Amino acid sequence: MVDKQQPEVNIGLVGHVDHGKTTLVQALSGSWTDQHSEEMKRGISIRLGYADATFRHCPDVDEPECYTVEEECPDGSRSEPLRTVSFVDAPGHETLMATMLSGASLMDGAVLVISANEPVPQPQTEEHLMALDIIGIDNIVIAQNKVDLVDSEQARENYDEIQAFVEGTVAEGAPVVPISAGQEVNIDLLMNAIEDEIPTPDRDPDADARLHVARSFDINKPGTTAANLTGGVLGGSLIQGELAVDDDIEIRPGREVEKGGQTEYVPIQTTIRSLQAGGQDADTVTPGGLLGVGTGLDPSLTKGDALAGRIAGPPGSLPPTWEAFTMDVDLLERVVGTDAGEVEEISTGEPLMMTVGTATTVGAVTSAREGECEVNLKRPVAAEPGATIAINRRIGARWRLIGLGTLQG
Ligand code: GDP
Ligand code: MG
Repeated sequence: MVDKQQPEVNIGLVGHVDHGKTTLVQALSGSWTDQHSEEMKRGISIRLGYADATFRHCPDVDEPECYTVEEECPDGSRSEPLRTVSFVDAPGHETLMATMLSGASLMDGAVLVISANEPVPQPQTEEHLMALDIIGIDNIVIAQNKVDLVDSEQARENYDEIQAFVEGTVAEGAPVVPISAGQEVNIDLLMNAIEDEIPTPDRDPDADARLHVARSFDINKPGTTAANLTGGVLGGSLIQGELAVDDDIEIRPGREVEKGGQTEYVPIQTTIRSLQAGGQDADTVTPGGLLGVGTGLDPSLTKGDALAGRIAGPPGSLPPTWEAFTMDVDLLERVVGTDAGEVEEISTGEPLMMTVGTATTVGAVTSAREGECEVNLKRPVAAEPGATIAINRRIGARWRLIGLGTLQG
């Protein structure tokens, strides 16, 4: 019988496309994160994929061999569960930076996967490290992957390139663990580094619950009669507090309603009907991993990710909804991962794409001054003053990360 625990920590898998993130998650969890048919077709992870792995420990075995995901130890004894880790497999494709950033807000640490057989850095290696820097994720382990494809001299040269690349960044001093995800070599050493560098954060169980909604669904089969409909389901992560079945929750910004020719967002109230954590039913859930929250909502409200980007928590406790806001702006010196050059000042009238928590919204700059700007949002967001905002500008055919904003009160 497999010990099942709710994941207690979220770890992002970041790095350039094809460097082995999905293969590594597979080696660590035995499950395949590329679940969506669309991404199967394109061979990249479009939606954030979550995969849970229970790290286990063999009591009578020395480090690092004592770390395993198997129930049987190398010495034949039975391993004991340490903790369950939820890996968020971030997409590496360059147009998907916003998804990466919205996932990063839920990460307690990250494993940066770098291929040993390519020059360092590749474009998204640099871009993802910059995103970790911006979002302030400093519990990092570097996996130097595909060492089976290089000789020891090439591995050493690549190691030196990695060290030079991370110097002065949030990943400076992070352990670099040579692995082969494909051949499952040194996975125990990597687990050892993750245990040392990415602890489970201290959580305050009395804090108001904050569910960041990343997805929402209608799980009913077409043609289900009204009497048999299951309420709308939210998928997301708790960043603080606890949720229990029968809790009342509010969702902000709620749903769009037309009022005298104007669109308005009205907060939604509902009751939790069921909870799933780590793929299993639960009565209460705490932060860590991807949660499924069954509600009493009309499923047409949650269909097709309609409530993605919202925040849910106890009624009356949620942060305000903003249709426009002023933010402090900290621009990057240059556009990352491209040859697009220096970042120019933000100008009045220009469109920006902003990621706040799991919400992504486009806004027009109504006033730009040095170090701050005001934006009018196409779709409002709910966020605390002081919240971090990833700011993207359209350069050529895509949105590119140009800096970090802080929401003013
Ligand atoms: P992702 O885009 O970062 O998720 O990369 P994938 O996990 O999809 O891997 C890309 C390709 O590299 C696949 O063909 C993998 O089989 C291969 N690959 C991943 N890890 C290793 C490894 O350690 N050694 C070798 N030789 N190939 C690997
Ligand atoms: Mg992948």
